Amino acid sequence: AETLLRVQNLSVHFPIHKGLLRRQVGAVQAVDEVSFDVLKGETLGLVGESGCGKSTTGRAILRLTPITQGRVILDGEDITHIEGETLRQRRRKMQMIFQDPQASLNPRMNVSGIISEPLVEHRSLSRKQMQERVYELMDAVGLRRSFANRYPHEFSGGQRQRIGIARALALDPGFIVCDEPIAALDVSIQAQVVNLLEELQQRLGLTYLFISHDLSMVRHMATRVAVMYLGRMVELAPREKLYSVPRHPYTQALLSAVPEPDPRREATRQRIILTGDVPSPANPPSGCRFRTRCPHAFDRCAVETPAFRKLSDGHFAACHLSE
Ligand code: SF4
Ligand code: MG
Repeated sequence: AETLLRVQNLSVHFPIHKGLLRRQVGAVQAVDEVSFDVLKGETLGLVGESGCGKSTTGRAILRLTPITQGRVILDGEDITHIEGETLRQRRRKMQMIFQDPQASLNPRMNVSGIISEPLVEHRSLSRKQMQERVYELMDAVGLRRSFANRYPHEFSGGQRQRIGIARALALDPGFIVCDEPIAALDVSIQAQVVNLLEELQQRLGLTYLFISHDLSMVRHMATRVAVMYLGRMVELAPREKLYSVPRHPYTQALLSAVPEPDPRREATRQRIILTGDVPSPANPPSGCRFRTRCPHAFDRCAVETPAFRKLSDGHFAACHLSE
């Protein structure tokens, strides 16, 4: 498949200021030298513990947070530094579905207003056309048309997320960052929202960057999976490879915590317990950032940063042991 998105050496560092003169004393390295591609029509899962830089990566790609270094190329166009009207135009092609539908919807707007907001901003439609488009979008996400004049607080979490999805789809984007889209929902309705996202992807040819800490969900959704730790990408592989032969010790630890659906395999599952806390991204360990928690760390890990290396077709990892 064609490449839709190319992320090259992306870094997002947030400066830390101190004192009366607001002197910069350091930087939080939220995302550091991250590279990956997203193919047209696929779902790339992006996983890792909270605070590892997943959301910041998604926001940087959509140009919602400043990029310190590197490049973001969407549909062949370098969008790293575009501004003003050009940026506004490109925003139509890339949208975000947020974790917390409650917080991302304006409580003072009704459904119709929320969904049509991007349309008002970007398209000159007549009142009637606008109404039709809102209904079309409500149909697409399974919301009854009679709800158009209701307000977010009148809905359940799952329905609110449907409103958020309808708004994200309003301008026919090709690429959507789904940032933990079901994490805030009741388990009982998570599957419905996931099914909706999959159905929309099929029908509209959407490409997803699917951010999640839920490895079972990602296994279900993703075509390929990328794993981040403390701002760095540590492994990237086609889904089946990542889940069956994880090569990075961090991925191995994450997967060892996922229960096996097969009871016989569950009985023999070996959990890898990581000791110690995740270090601060303002002061990451030298060499391999995972070394303070890695069960296999050795001398070289403290002095040399492991390169993100190709191990086999489509399988990459950043670990000295997987050379
Ligand atoms: Fe562990 Fe060293 Fe590999 Fe890092 S490079 S994951 S510390 S073995
Ligand atoms: Mg997050």
